[in-house]
Amino acid sequence: MKWKVKFSYLQEQFANPEPIFKDIRKLLKTGEFTLGPAVQQFESKFAQVCQTKYAVGVNSGTDALFLSLKALGIGSGDEVITMPNTFIATVGAIAASGAKPVFVDCNEEYVINPDLIERAITPKTKAIIPVHYAGHPAEMGKILEIAKKHQLLVVEDACQAISSSIDGKKTGSFGLTGAFSLHPLKNINVWSDGGIITTNSKELYDKLILLRNHGMANRDEYEIFGYNSRLDTMQAVVGLHLIKDLEKITNKRIENARMYDEGLSELADYVTMPPRRKNVRYVYHLYIIQVQRRDQLLAYLQENGIEAKVHYPIPLHLQNCAKYLGYKRGDFPVAEEQARNIITLPAHQHISKKQIEYVLDKIKKFYKN
Ligand SMILES: *Cc1c(COP(=O)(O)O)cnc(C)c1O
Repeated sequence: MKWKVKFSYLQEQFANPEPIFKDIRKLLKTGEFTLGPAVQQFESKFAQVCQTKYAVGVNSGTDALFLSLKALGIGSGDEVITMPNTFIATVGAIAASGAKPVFVDCNEEYVINPDLIERAITPKTKAIIPVHYAGHPAEMGKILEIAKKHQLLVVEDACQAISSSIDGKKTGSFGLTGAFSLHPLKNINVWSDGGIITTNSKELYDKLILLRNHGMANRDEYEIFGYNSRLDTMQAVVGLHLIKDLEKITNKRIENARMYDEGLSELADYVTMPPRRKNVRYVYHLYIIQVQRRDQLLAYLQENGIEAKVHYPIPLHLQNCAKYLGYKRGDFPVAEEQARNIITLPAHQHISKKQIEYVLDKIKKFYKN
């Protein structure tokens, strides 16, 4: 299929890689492939962007979550609360830590419903992982209040949400740590896997630095048992180039979303628009709407060369891997209904106005005929 409007934009994004190659050639001359200077440079730039004191480069967003939980001492016998309508890695990281994932339904804005969190808390609950899903910030004010009241730790899954904010405060700066992904399909991406953890705590920073690199205090002394989860120097070089464009990329995505919002407003009978909470910066990692006759619309758009997708059609509590948790259909009605109605339209920074008009035109045709 030759798409007229593609979901992925990597070929366009890296059409002119020469400036990056130039810095990679420099790296080849030094041979500093593991924890070379670019890693620290990228970490300080990232911390600055996220308004935190520290950032620690790791090898994926999944490890950013997993190592955060490890650094907080979470493991076997503990429970960690999150929502079922997220990417599998949020929950996979909890399971990998040895803790039990506990789900709380989302609200109409695709983020964890704070009003339902307290009834999921047990004496074993240790932490909450709010997900800034689609690049839309979770309700951190209410979540932090609940966490304080019950002495719970908060790790933000900000993998989809670089540069999103609430009242100007960046996601990744609310919790004890914030986990970010640099996966090729995320808003700031590298040429392979990569991740980064933000924190304001010196103690957690020191622990994370050890955990990502075998617990090494130095070449010959090991403080704790750790992991091999370093951010590649080469990927840090790529990241340093891309993070310069962060605001440009983010603003273009927001601009595209506004165009969709406007175009879709006349279809209010068929389409539920994305959330527009006041004082929140939604960075549109995904532009998600809910629609009537979703599967038919999805097929129609794809037939017309539009690479729309569904994130995600099966909520995690209904996946085979989660069977041992004992949930059943009907447990999380909002997430389940959304899974039937959501559709993601391509809204990335390399889409043209004309392409958005084309998508809007096809959606209108679909509902008006
Ligand atoms: C992408 C993503 C992750 C995992 O990031 P990787 O870098 O792919 O390991 C975790 N949580 C969410 C919500 C994500 O979108």
